[in-house]
Amino acid sequence: MKEVLLIKNGEIALKGLNRSTFEDILVKNIKRRLLDSVGKFTFTKSQSTIIAEANEEDIDFEAAVETLKKVFGIAAFSRAVVCDKDIDEIKRVALEYLGDDLRSIRTFKVNAKRSDKKFPMTSPEICREVGAHLLRSIPSLKVDVHNPDIIVTVEVRDKNVFIHGNQIKGAGGMPVGSAGRVALLVSGGIDSPVAGWMMSKRGLQLNAIHFAAPPYTSKRAEMKVRDLVSIVAKYSGRINFAVVNFTEIQEAIKEHCPEELFTIIMRRLMMKISVRLAERDNCGALVTGESLGQVASQTLGALACTDAAVNMPVFRPCIGMDKDEIITISRAIGAFETSILPYEDCCTVFTPKHPRTRPTLKLIEEAESAFDFSEMIDRAIENVKYEFVD
Ligand code: ATP
Ligand code: MG
Repeated sequence: MKEVLLIKNGEIALKGLNRSTFEDILVKNIKRRLLDSVGKFTFTKSQSTIIAEANEEDIDFEAAVETLKKVFGIAAFSRAVVCDKDIDEIKRVALEYLGDDLRSIRTFKVNAKRSDKKFPMTSPEICREVGAHLLRSIPSLKVDVHNPDIIVTVEVRDKNVFIHGNQIKGAGGMPVGSAGRVALLVSGGIDSPVAGWMMSKRGLQLNAIHFAAPPYTSKRAEMKVRDLVSIVAKYSGRINFAVVNFTEIQEAIKEHCPEELFTIIMRRLMMKISVRLAERDNCGALVTGESLGQVASQTLGALACTDAAVNMPVFRPCIGMDKDEIITISRAIGAFETSILPYEDCCTVFTPKHPRTRPTLKLIEEAESAFDFSEMIDRAIENVKYEFVD
């Protein structure tokens, strides 16, 4: 039996004239991901479906399904079998292909779609014939048209018939690469990987920037962040990952600035460096995992001071989310277990005892002017270490 993947794109369908550009990006992304994980496929577009056919025998379709679940821009997909346009063949193949699944559940219904109007039977006739055949062959089955365990779908198209069971939910969103590129400030925590995943879901390609402060932060802490970036990359595709050595700057902040403003000044300097890297790498915005009110540096006033450090949009997709909502996504994308590994972050190493929650920009700018950070910033940028993470 020959199998294919039938892929339904999501919001792309709404994009009017740009639709084919979006579809092309989606196909390119699917092709590359399948190639990386299971093998080579050929694609055809037909109505709102992308049909993926394997070029090689022995393709691991289970693995292909797992790969597709992580590709943004796919609303739903199914693993289907190809069959000749003949009703006896349809009945035989449906039973052979879905028999095991149907024996393990109780209720089903058949759904027929006939885009080839020359096919001699109507959709209701196909449903009746195939349904009766399955009922006869598997005595434990019952029909339930309202809430069946499995919907057996028979799609009669131009060249072939496709038969499949339940659709699999896709990752949704827009194809990565359809919306531009942004730079994610990634820590080892729970929130920033989720933030990156959320923006990638809207079609953005990701760069990632991490600030490390050796020897206060360890190599293993950095490896943990790299692992998190790699988890996000399973969805977003390859991420250009930059590690900035922040030690010298943090020590200077500690030495020259008032303790209650450490965190906010540090965050502003992180943003300033990130903007420079982002501009250099053609990123149109910065992304952080900040969520309103979560910590002292994430009050409305503090965020305004952070934003004032840069003249580039800063996206904070977690801003209105509760921690448990962020954790739900973190678990779903497979990042949580890594995020909670207990390694130090450069932010926490220098945390003041009593951070100021209502800083004014004037106060902060005054405090920052006590020391000229510009040479250190240049040096940090010059010494950035880049790596592609898949
Ligand atoms: P997270 O769970 O993402 O670490 P958090 O709740 O711990 O977030 P903070 O530590 O205040 O919050 O950091 C807020 C945001 O600043 C992070 O989501 C991340 O985008 C950025 N950030 C914090 N530390 C670093 C770092 N060492 N390198 C790069 N970005 C960082
Ligand atoms: Mg953190």
